[in-house]
Amino acid sequence: MEPTSLAGYVPFDEERQRQYVEEGYWRETTFHEVLDEHAEAHPDRTALVGPNRELTYGELAASTRQIASYLAGELGLRPNERVVFQLPNCSEFVETFLACSRIGVVPVMVLPRHREAEANHVVELTDARAYVVDHDRYPNRFDFVGLADDVRAAHDSLEHVIAVTDDGAAELDECVTFGSMRDERWVNTYGEQVVETDVDPANPGVMLLSGGTTGLPKAIPRTHNDYVFQWERMAEVAGVETDWIAFPSVPIGHNASLNCIVGAALWEGATVAVEPVLKPEHLMDFIERVDGSYTLPMPTQILDILDHPDVDEYDLTSLEVLVSGGQKVPPAVVERAVERWDVGFCNIFGMAEGPLICSRPEDELAVQAHTVGRPIAPEADEVRIVGPDREENLDTGEAGELAVRGPGYFTGYFRNDEENAENFSVDGWFFTEDVLARRPDGNLEVYGRMKDTIIRGGENIYAPGVEDELIEHPKIANVAVVAIPDDRLGERPAAVVELAEGAEDVSVDELSSFLDERGIAVFKRPERLAVLPSLPRTEVGKIEKKALEDRIGDLFEASNDDQ
Ligand code: AMP
Repeated sequence: MEPTSLAGYVPFDEERQRQYVEEGYWRETTFHEVLDEHAEAHPDRTALVGPNRELTYGELAASTRQIASYLAGELGLRPNERVVFQLPNCSEFVETFLACSRIGVVPVMVLPRHREAEANHVVELTDARAYVVDHDRYPNRFDFVGLADDVRAAHDSLEHVIAVTDDGAAELDECVTFGSMRDERWVNTYGEQVVETDVDPANPGVMLLSGGTTGLPKAIPRTHNDYVFQWERMAEVAGVETDWIAFPSVPIGHNASLNCIVGAALWEGATVAVEPVLKPEHLMDFIERVDGSYTLPMPTQILDILDHPDVDEYDLTSLEVLVSGGQKVPPAVVERAVERWDVGFCNIFGMAEGPLICSRPEDELAVQAHTVGRPIAPEADEVRIVGPDREENLDTGEAGELAVRGPGYFTGYFRNDEENAENFSVDGWFFTEDVLARRPDGNLEVYGRMKDTIIRGGENIYAPGVEDELIEHPKIANVAVVAIPDDRLGERPAAVVELAEGAEDVSVDELSSFLDERGIAVFKRPERLAVLPSLPRTEVGKIEKKALEDRIGDLFEASNDDQ
């Protein structure tokens, strides 16, 4: 099969490609070759446990061959073409993902909570030819086939909707049903064509989406080489073992799950287990049922489980290592989780663009609670903390912007010259817009997004630092510290809180004296307060400050807790 063009993809420069291969960082291995090696070495080991199916490595390799044969032969998908995935955490995701790898097709990770705006934007941006959704196998409260159909009607590139279905085949006459792809006859007819496809590990194997805290998501191409490099390093630092059950706790198409959990487990030849509903009760029940060992939830999910009234009813002692990040992990969350479950804790700073910086399970608790540790590949990952000019390297202890370059980092957003020109230097450094500092012991500490800094009369306040303190207040379950515009000082800090169970209210004065006892400077203390029944969350469960900022006027006009 002839590859199609990847115009708009920024490749690694040749010199760096050569260096990464020579130094052994890149193994020139594709996603499906990682699978095939395990399928050959231990075909009967369990690879995948889904709500409906359990597959060994041998079976997973076979099923991905069938699906790949269908996609290439019946649908005519060619190397480098894109397919949108919008699936819950399910075995069909993993099967289709690895099937695409076999034919060099690039999955694009739309998340279940994305809707028309994101879906249309992503298909427009990537010219996707197929769109994979669930119809009725998993608990959906949304018509994903309807969404995919509408997007197809608006885009000529999008020819096929593939639907995962149990018994809805009759009503889906315009769709390919997932079950029909999984058939040995496709291998008999088109298997040769699949085997002969030359998949270049230096090309993108997946496109992730940026967090989308501002505007529409950007597409982040990750090559087989750079992604597999991170799977290997993540498995190594987390100490993943072949008999572990790794399971995603956030949507599987998010880098946190796909790279750190699914990828690391596949690299090691461990088992991946998937559960489509990610609410605390479901996760606890699932961990107990499958003996889950390794996962990456958002900090708020860990808190929801720790504070769940029924937590004592579940046996979660199978947990070996918890990774958490995506937003600042309050130190108290790390301490409580380690104490309760006796787990190794990887406090991680992660970005779909590449950086994975984390504490190690064997680190001291104080390092796990207060820092994000070190890059996962310290000898290969180039990391700098730079000043506002993006040139000067700051000293140990000074907070500045994180800049990265290396064999596990992306090289540019897909078809986005403007953003790439803004955030990359000519010699390939990516500027993350996140503020970190290196401690004397070499571990890194996160201060927040550059945008998450409140500037009050010229003084910088890193909102996550104040949030870390406030979350320990007994009346507070969750909190976001945001800026409210102020004529005199520019901005003032304000808190939006979700009350803890049993708490009826809380006042600005109570917060202020609590912060006073903890030695937090007066200028950092929230001056206004709003209480919400629950804070808005992003599609992966991070507290969505953007949504709060959009409502700042309403939130604080309505609040009488002035000054
Ligand atoms: P995403 O695009 O969803 O991969 O989110 C990446 C962003 O999440 C980063 O740029 C950071 O702003 C934020 N982030 C990730 N990990 C942490 C962490 N441990 N502490 C604070 N912010 C984090």
